Amino acid sequence: QVRFEDVTLKFGDKTVLDRINFTLPSSELISFLGPSGSGKSTTLYLISGLLDATEGKIFFDDKEVTNLDPVKRGVGLVFQNYALYPHLTVLENIMFPLKMAKVSKKERRRIATEMAELTKIGDQLDKYPRQLSGGQQQRVAISRALAKSPSILLMDEPLSNLDARLRIEMREEIRRIQKETGVTTVFVTHDQEEALSIADHVMVLDDGEIQQMTDPVTLYEDPKNLFIAKFIGSPI
Ligand code: ATP
Ligand code: MG
Repeated sequence: QVRFEDVTLKFGDKTVLDRINFTLPSSELISFLGPSGSGKSTTLYLISGLLDATEGKIFFDDKEVTNLDPVKRGVGLVFQNYALYPHLTVLENIMFPLKMAKVSKKERRRIATEMAELTKIGDQLDKYPRQLSGGQQQRVAISRALAKSPSILLMDEPLSNLDARLRIEMREEIRRIQKETGVTTVFVTHDQEEALSIADHVMVLDDGEIQQMTDPVTLYEDPKNLFIAKFIGSPI
C-alpha cells in the first residue's frame, strides 16, 4: 500500500503538486490518467524515489520512505522506451538487476528464466533487443522490472511506442501478469480507454490535482465533475 500525505513538489518556484493525498490499494492495477502536464510522471517518480518531495510524507505500508533512495524502496520501473541494454541478450538484460544485487549466478538464471516464462519471452533468451519487436522488448523490460520481486511495479506510458494492435495485446498481457503476480502496479497513461480497460482503480489527475479515484465503471458512469466527464467521454 502506497500512501501520500500532503505531498508537495516544486521545481524552483513552480509548484507542480500541491499537498496531494492518496492511498493506493495493494495488489491491484491502478492507472494514473490525465492530460499532458497533469503530473502523472512526477507522481510516479515520487513513488520510486527518483524525485524527492519538497514537502510531505510518503509511506509504503506503515514504513515511511520519503527520503529513502530508489534502490532501497524496492520498486520496479518500466518506461515507454524500454531502456534495454543493447549489448546484452534478453537473458542478460533480465539478470542485470540481480547481478547488481549480487545474487548468485545460478539463482540469477533461475529467476530470469522464470520471469521470461511469465511474460512469454522464454523462447527468445539469446536474442539481442534489436532483434525483437516493440511488444517483445516491452516483455523483456517487464521481466527485468519484476526480477527483484518489487513491492510495486511502476509503468510510465509503457505502450505508447507500440502500434494500435500491439497496444491492445500488451494491455491484456500486463493485466494478466499483474493478476498472476499480484504485485501492486501503477500504469500511467493519457489514454482514457486504456486506463478504463486495464485498471482496477483509476486516479484522474489534472493540473497537479487529484480529481477522482475510483473504479472504471463508477468513473465512467458517475464522473465527479465536467472535466472528468469530458476527458473520459462519459455520456452527459
Ligand atoms: P505527459 O503526459 O506529457 O507525460 P505528465 O502528466 O507526466 O505529462 P509531468 O511530467 O508529471 O506531466 O509534469 C507535470 C508538470 O511539471 C508539467 O507542468 C511540467 O512542465 C512540469 N515539470 C516536469 N518536470 C520538470 C522539470 N524537471 N523542471 C521543471 N518543470 C517540470
Ligand atoms: Mg509523463
